[in-house]
Amino acid sequence: MRAALEVEKLSVSYGGDPAVSVPHLALPAGTLAGVVGANGAGKSTLVNGLLGWSRGPARASGVVKLDGETLNGLPTYQRVQRGLVLVPEGLAVFGTMLVEENLRSTRPHGPEAERRAFSVDHVFALFPRLAERRANRAASLSGGERQMLAIGRALRLGPKVLLLDEPSIGLAPRLVLTLLLTIRKLADAGLSVLLVEQNVRAAMEVVDHLYLLERGRIIADGPIGAMRDDPRIVEAYLGSTKA
Ligand code: ATP
Repeated sequence: MRAALEVEKLSVSYGGDPAVSVPHLALPAGTLAGVVGANGAGKSTLVNGLLGWSRGPARASGVVKLDGETLNGLPTYQRVQRGLVLVPEGLAVFGTMLVEENLRSTRPHGPEAERRAFSVDHVFALFPRLAERRANRAASLSGGERQMLAIGRALRLGPKVLLLDEPSIGLAPRLVLTLLLTIRKLADAGLSVLLVEQNVRAAMEVVDHLYLLERGRIIADGPIGAMRDDPRIVEAYLGSTKA
């Protein structure tokens, strides 16, 4: 199957040993893959590294391809314009703007992205709760609603590949699965999604393929059916119930 996103020998370091070192990762088009791991495993460093961005003075090397096109050397904003769009951890919304303004002011770059971009109505159909709150300031939204808005803004940019950094963080448990099932719907409709999650149990409910990241290395990966029984997942994340 065609890879929407392909990574070869990605290494990101903050000065010392690499915080992330990934020899190979391929996301087939129209699928949802999860990268799971504990606090500090390197999940954010990985997705930020794909965009050529970091919170500190990171050095990255390796090859990142989006839909066959090599992104190396491109600054972050150009990677986003080409369709690699990240919803970062920490809710990227404009607090002082209304919900609807947040969405309308986020526009795709160029005709190709425009074809892929979600309309504001499409975002509201995906997240009916946002439609109800369209005239509210983003700062007044709950954590879950802000997360929906951040994803909505990303969809307005016309992503080829959507990267989500811990969308479940800070959400009430009953909202986590609802949100992840909506993300599943996006993949079922043809979007390619890489979901970074600390909530392993919830991520496993929706992904096609799972990568387990530990200390910056992928120590196990495979189709979700096989990974459910992987002892490293069961022991570290699912406990004895294996639910
Ligand atoms: P979390 O779930 O807490 O966000 P994570 O899996 O996303 O964790 P990262 O934030 O990518 O992990 O961190 C991976 C490693 O890189 C950690 O050891 C962390 O301390 C280190 N690190 C992250 N950002 C920086 C930075 N700006 N400068 C130096 N080291 C950093």
